[in-house]
Amino acid sequence: MSEYLKPASFEIPPPPVPEEQITGTLTADVVVVGEGLAGLCAALSARQAGAETRIVTASARPVARGGSVFASYSRIMAAHGLPRLDLDDFFLEEFAANSFQVDQRKWYTLLDRSEEAMDWLADILEKEGLEVVLEDANRDDCHSPTWQPPGTHAFVGKGVTRAGTGMSLAVAALEKTFLEAGGEVLHSTPARYLEKADGRVTAVVVQKPGGDYLRLKARKGVILATGDFSANKEMMAKYCPQYAPDFTSAGDDYDVGFAVRGLYRGEGQQMALWAGAAWQKTWPCAVMIQGSRLGTSMPYGSHRGLRLNRRGERYCNEDMNGAYTALTTLREPGGQAYAIWGSNYARETVFRAHGGRREDPDLTPEQVIANWEDQVSKGQLVKGDTVEAVAEALGLPVEATMETIRRYNALCRAGKDGDFHKKPKYLQEIREAPFYGCSLSDRLFFTVLGGPRTNYKMQICDGRDEPIPGLWCVGSMVGDMYANCYNFRIPGQNYGACLTFGYLTGKRVAEE
Ligand SMILES: Cc1cc2nc3c(=O)[nH]c(=O)nc-3n(C[C@H](O)[C@H](O)[C@H](O)COP(=O)(O)OP(=O)(O)OC[C@H]3O[C@@H](n4cnc5c(N)ncnc54)[C@H](O)[C@@H]3O)c2cc1C
Repeated sequence: MSEYLKPASFEIPPPPVPEEQITGTLTADVVVVGEGLAGLCAALSARQAGAETRIVTASARPVARGGSVFASYSRIMAAHGLPRLDLDDFFLEEFAANSFQVDQRKWYTLLDRSEEAMDWLADILEKEGLEVVLEDANRDDCHSPTWQPPGTHAFVGKGVTRAGTGMSLAVAALEKTFLEAGGEVLHSTPARYLEKADGRVTAVVVQKPGGDYLRLKARKGVILATGDFSANKEMMAKYCPQYAPDFTSAGDDYDVGFAVRGLYRGEGQQMALWAGAAWQKTWPCAVMIQGSRLGTSMPYGSHRGLRLNRRGERYCNEDMNGAYTALTTLREPGGQAYAIWGSNYARETVFRAHGGRREDPDLTPEQVIANWEDQVSKGQLVKGDTVEAVAEALGLPVEATMETIRRYNALCRAGKDGDFHKKPKYLQEIREAPFYGCSLSDRLFFTVLGGPRTNYKMQICDGRDEPIPGLWCVGSMVGDMYANCYNFRIPGQNYGACLTFGYLTGKRVAEE
């Protein structure tokens, strides 16, 4: 076999655990592996459909991060008086952004079934005393790649007020509801491998906290929901090499929450491969990444005034969101970028807060300046009486930077961006002191998306695209859901998919 065809070490199944170390067997209709949003939704909907259901998870508790969840519509949106939008063209634009390398049936299932799933979730969470709100998104310019459709839901209550940060409340409420419905959860119990009989997945072998093993038999099916593989260096090198160096976590914390350097080691993906799954067709796997939000005027945005590279040159049309900003900046020398603006920017641009609600008013210029001052005091922004002082404080070449600013200001005064064709409404001169500036080089590496070949019913498939009987997956590990980069045009899309496909798949497996 040539070097090229040699399997990577993670593709080689481990030897089965000696039978004497498997100290017990438990049986259920459905076994769900992993307790993030996807696993919980699958487990609860299977239980509600009458299946005896057990969650087994390596984490000590339900796992959460962020809390923005997309649904195309919901009774919450109706109560806010929002109309149903026709998103047909928007979805085509999104397929183009994904180079048409995604399974459209999954996306249209999200479009057509997420309302039912969100209404189901909202009923559960409201019963547990949470409020479901609508997170604000960028509303500018429909059909521009900065626009985001309404539909990002968030959960507040019990001390959480900011939209997009309440997932820990939601998963706790889901776990409670699942247990009250007669479901069972085994915590701190990582799954090690799957067992098959006559071609069908029939059981999961899991490791108990003390080190012994248990065999969890599943009469109807096993649903894998073990999250991503961003902390597995070998898998990253094979399936997402460009961003492999940016994920530095060892992946040994199964409770990992709001972390931006890697989450898990892809254990569910590996178990699926050992059970005969093929890898997804799209290569490389899509990364979820965002650029710095400093100086931004919109949710999920990045500074939309003048951006410069470390040579003091302007390098792009700044009208883009945080994900696209990160990718654009990575192409500049050293992957570095900076922004400089004047106090007048606070008055001449509409500012909306990231993490705000749809009904919140625009920020006033005074609020905007207060935010900047707060960031100055934290060392995130620099401030100066002259543009030269700000450029110097940022370490930029002052002469080249001043030349760029003179040119940019002239374009702003002319109301026409002859260099990068930015819309006139986003051309604000850098005019009034004090001036502010920041580095935009920081990036947030959230996760990598993808895994075993998965059809739109969430059945894991082999190399002939045939489902492996008894084996399903949901959540971040689903194959062929995204390509290129996760572009944040649908904020909360991944949690929306965890919810929608978790809800649908749990029911489907229960009805097997
Ligand atoms: C900082 C941050 C913020 C984010 N915010 C958002 C957001 O607001 N909206 C959004 O859509 N997306 C967000 N994401 C992406 C987010 O991580 C995913 O959308 C979401 O967590 C996917 O859920 P999941 O259920 O697939 O997996 P996870 O939530 O990652 O859960 C995986 C579960 O599997 C368990 N597990 C792992 N290995 C094993 C094993 N061998 N055996 C048993 N159990 C195992 C884990 O312990 C965990 O319980 C964010 C990501 C980051 C890093």
